[in-house]
Amino acid sequence: GQDVVNAVIPSTYYKFEEFPEYQKLHLHKVIAEKAKIENPFFRLQEGIANSTVTIGNHSLINFANYNYLGLNGHPEVSQAAHDAIDEYGTSVSASRIVAGERKIHLELERKLAEVYDVDDAVVMVSGYATNLTVIGNLLGSKDLILYDNFSHNSILQGTQLSSAKRRMFPHNDMNMLDQILKDIRHQYERCLIVVEGVYSMDGDAAPLDKLVEIKKRHKCLLMVDEAHGLGVLGATGRGSGEHFGVTGRDVDIWMGTLSKTSAGCGGYIAGSNALIEYLKFSAPGFVYSVGMPPPVAAAALASLNVMLREPERIKRFRDNANLFIRLAKEAGLNTGVSQGHAVVPIIIGNSVKAGQLSSRLFDAGVYAPPIIYPAVPEESARLRFFLSSEHTPDQIREAVQKTKECWDKLKS
Ligand code: PMP
Repeated sequence: GQDVVNAVIPSTYYKFEEFPEYQKLHLHKVIAEKAKIENPFFRLQEGIANSTVTIGNHSLINFANYNYLGLNGHPEVSQAAHDAIDEYGTSVSASRIVAGERKIHLELERKLAEVYDVDDAVVMVSGYATNLTVIGNLLGSKDLILYDNFSHNSILQGTQLSSAKRRMFPHNDMNMLDQILKDIRHQYERCLIVVEGVYSMDGDAAPLDKLVEIKKRHKCLLMVDEAHGLGVLGATGRGSGEHFGVTGRDVDIWMGTLSKTSAGCGGYIAGSNALIEYLKFSAPGFVYSVGMPPPVAAAALASLNVMLREPERIKRFRDNANLFIRLAKEAGLNTGVSQGHAVVPIIIGNSVKAGQLSSRLFDAGVYAPPIIYPAVPEESARLRFFLSSEHTPDQIREAVQKTKECWDKLKS
């Protein structure tokens, strides 16, 4: 009866503010205040975040947004979104499978299939949910998923949702991947290998040519998350396939997001007719979720058109990224395994110091937020710099120099 409930159910079981998880979060806030770190999270930005950004009264050189080719706010992209609102409104007000199908979805999917040179594509309303629902539901209990140690949280969550056996392999270690497959591949039916074209926290590429060779030899399926590969790798921005000279059809599942280069939001899968047809009728995150809002789909499509038409943006972007990583290395900063693809981390190895460095840089006019545990292991807490085609070489020089100066003062 009620007496038993009163006796055995303490308030920590039903009051959020007393949950141990919340208390831990609160403790982080107290530590940050003691270390005099202004809260670096949820900073309010104004206007369009490009190579510079306005926060409060400050204009800062911006390395916090993944607007890689400067297409967010591009007139053609914004106009396409306006036009789509005029034509369709802001929502399709239904799942695609029921009453949410619009021509703009199919046009975007056709373009994505063309970018990857595969049969077809499907777009979903969230990149995160695309990984979750596809990895989480594609395979069954007799199957195996192998994923890289540096995988994005959406990939990890997808593998946890799946009833398949999951196993991690050390980051980009193709010998270990091959060895694991030699040891255990035969115990399973289907086997999915999941990698990122460009790793989101580290800025290095998966060796796609080797992966294709391995996956073919062991008769596996290969899934490549191109969230940070599209617009970044390859002469025309088609991503890691173009970079490594791998054809679209060598990869079974191309996954990507429309939130980076493509100036919108949402995720996509590109691949064979059978894969796309199957997902459109079965992936819960697609079937039971609303269709992509027309202005978002239109913006993404327009972004892809600009990307393909103006490869000089990609060249500029790459020159900037190469300059940043070269200068950072020359300055003795720890850029980890980054190859200067899209992302350059400066590894600090301590969350409090990473927060302090970010805060000092903010005061010096450079915006690079800290990435701390649990997003990365504590010993690799870092500042993450996203590069853009719109940065100038001077902005990059200034940012690296200020990072070095602030870090030199802090670490001693
Ligand atoms: N995959 C990777 C590699 C990512 O970095 C991200 C997030 N930036 C996602 C998937 C999720 O994409 P979105 O933010 O568009 O939902």
